[in-house]
Amino acid sequence: MATERTLSIIKPDATKRNLTGKINAKFEDAGLRIVAQKRIQLTLAQAGQFYAEHKERPFFGELTEFMVSEPVVVQVLEGEGAILKNREVMGATNPANADEGTIRKEFALSVGENSVHGSDSPEAAAREIAFFFSGLELVG
Ligand code: ADP
Ligand code: MG
Repeated sequence: MATERTLSIIKPDATKRNLTGKINAKFEDAGLRIVAQKRIQLTLAQAGQFYAEHKERPFFGELTEFMVSEPVVVQVLEGEGAILKNREVMGATNPANADEGTIRKEFALSVGENSVHGSDSPEAAAREIAFFFSGLELVG
């Protein structure tokens, strides 16, 4: 399998509870390398743009308000099959359905406040990495 990069976000419920290190340990234990990382405060416009695919969903307003409620940590994870591997480490969107040992099983509060975002395809990963990081911030 090829080395890939994927975009991860440690969401406000997790940054607020000071869980960045514990979540990063899950990534590293799974063989994912954190090759870029920064803590930022999203604006409502940025959160809406990032989650544009969900604009028509009933939870869009709740989701975007949540994403600006505290700073987030955006990061690029690298590794063999990183996109799928990260989705596995994250666990199901609803923590009630997440497998034991996953980030969402261990840390998520609800289907909305579910601690992490991860790109779901190579196309999304490329778009989402470019949304947050410039070429200069990504060491080859
Ligand atoms: P994932 O983050 O697992 O890729 P989705 O892309 O389906 O999940 O949804 C994006 C985010 O929207 C979820 O991570 C979660 O924060 C929020 N969300 C999804 N479904 C719901 C829901 N039914 N109610 C509230 N928030 C939701
Ligand atoms: Mg998604």
